[in-house]
Amino acid sequence: MIFTVAIDGPAAAGKGTISRAVAARFGFAHLDTGLLYRAVGAMGGDPVDAARRLTAADLLRDDLRTLEAGAAASRVAVLPEVRAALVDFQRRFARRDGGAVLDGRDIGTVICPAAEAKLYVTASPEIRAHRRWLEVGGDAAEVLAQVRERDARDIGRADAPLRAAVDAVVIDTSAMEIVEAVKAACTVVVVALERQGLAPKPE
Ligand code: C5P
Repeated sequence: MIFTVAIDGPAAAGKGTISRAVAARFGFAHLDTGLLYRAVGAMGGDPVDAARRLTAADLLRDDLRTLEAGAAASRVAVLPEVRAALVDFQRRFARRDGGAVLDGRDIGTVICPAAEAKLYVTASPEIRAHRRWLEVGGDAAEVLAQVRERDARDIGRADAPLRAAVDAVVIDTSAMEIVEAVKAACTVVVVALERQGLAPKPE
């Protein structure tokens, strides 16, 4: 069975948690595409070269989850040649047998415009910064400034900017518990599976 769930949205909106939960619920594979850009940023040297050499093993580095790695990722992610070098890896993953969930910034718009289910997960910058701050600590105002800076770079870049696909279902998690958001996402996937004549795996 080929079935792609595309989940896009800004940093710390909850898309990682939702993506993992959706993948577990339906038995799909999951790819956090932010890790590709984080790995390219962390590899150093020429980012285009790094993107062309990237393998699945590079995604296992243990230094990819820091704020610095996120900032480095968003800097290399503005480069069209870096993005182009990562397209095939993502599309192959999306069309693997058994179903796939990909989360990122441009999955529903550029990587998989024909994805069977599309979600755009968002929340206010203040709420997202607060969630990030609970994870990483430090100066709250600085974390908010970093969230805003990353948003501006992701939304403002010329190539594959962050935006919701016209046919994406928007989930704003600002005032939602994560269980509620996961439930809403699963409902969208069930409807999309049924549209394809596929039966969801029993819970
Ligand atoms: O999602 P995460 O915070 O790990 O992403 C890190 C950065 O990688 C983002 O801020 C964005 O610049 C870039 N990215 C992207 N396209 C994706 C996933 C991530 O440009 N599909």
